[in-house]
Amino acid sequence: MDIVSLCFDLIRCKSVTPADDGAIDCVAEFLSAAGFETRVLTFTSADGANSVKNLFARYGNSGKKVLGFIGHSDVVPAGEDWEVDPFAAIQRDGYLIGRGVADMKGGLAAFCCAAVEFVRQPFDGTIEFFITGDEEIGSQEGIQSLIEWAVENNCIPHNCLIGEPSSDVRLGDRIYIGHRGSLNVTVNSQGKQGHSAYPSNYKNSLINLCRYIVRISGYQWKHDNEKFPLTNLEATMLFTNNYAQNVVPDFSSANLNIRFGDDYTTEKLKVVVQREAESFSGLSFDFFPSGEAYCCDDDNLKKKLSSSIEEITGVNPYFSTAGGTSDGRFMARHCSVIEFGLPDATIHQKDEKVKIEDLKNLEKIYFSFLKKYFEC
Ligand SMILES: [Zn+2]
Repeated sequence: MDIVSLCFDLIRCKSVTPADDGAIDCVAEFLSAAGFETRVLTFTSADGANSVKNLFARYGNSGKKVLGFIGHSDVVPAGEDWEVDPFAAIQRDGYLIGRGVADMKGGLAAFCCAAVEFVRQPFDGTIEFFITGDEEIGSQEGIQSLIEWAVENNCIPHNCLIGEPSSDVRLGDRIYIGHRGSLNVTVNSQGKQGHSAYPSNYKNSLINLCRYIVRISGYQWKHDNEKFPLTNLEATMLFTNNYAQNVVPDFSSANLNIRFGDDYTTEKLKVVVQREAESFSGLSFDFFPSGEAYCCDDDNLKKKLSSSIEEITGVNPYFSTAGGTSDGRFMARHCSVIEFGLPDATIHQKDEKVKIEDLKNLEKIYFSFLKKYFEC
């Protein structure tokens, strides 16, 4: 089966998270027909509310070098106003159009096809696949549970390549070698309600909160290395419990999101956020950590991937740690992780599409990388 046919089959599965609609089995059957050992693993949340189907697959019997591919088969909802049926996998003017073709059924199909082709020749090492079904909603019953399972079953690889859409303007121009960390913070401000004409009788929770937001958003974050963009804090939501014009609200809250480089950790940020509140009264904080910053320091891995990209596309990629978080933040605690895939221009949009030529070239890049990785 060629890459376009595999993409076609995957897009036709309406695998909007947490639905699977046959996507995981489609990948499992494709890999198993080529001799891969496959394990379909369903993980369920403690409260039983969420159940997600995932796939672990493996080929090879040498532990000398173990390379893992990470990908997800779930997609975000299609939304409205598409020019074509988002789940029909329409080909038009050299493009394949469909929900998830760029994020990331195209990348998934490309590394599966490349690996199936690669294992036809003998090689010394093992290829593993970690394919998950809930990347778009937090990865709890997906990569996080799959990694726990892999630790218990002794199959954590030495290196991982994530097939998420990392390219910018054209295929091959950007490799993600890590990502900033992300921390969500809710700031609660407790005051005293009152009539706005009587200032001595109330304490305005909203003004107190706004002053704090101005202070923390002007904080001078440390930036001691060039690996990461500057740490950035944004206020993303403001709430108050009052709609009357002459009532001063006793409670207000705000959400903040902090994207941070490795000068910081979640714990260090908690200290800063709370220390800056010391001169305010009535503030309290809830923290919702989303992941620490990480960066791949394996120069050999970066070099092999770069030269494969250059060989196929003629493009010399740059390394970046910008962009949103990915499942790499969970695997990076166990091994070095690098991320490379299709251009990201249409992801999560209507009429999501990729050039068919890019799909075919991505498969060639992964194939070339496999050869360089296993030195054959
Ligand atoms: Zn994705």
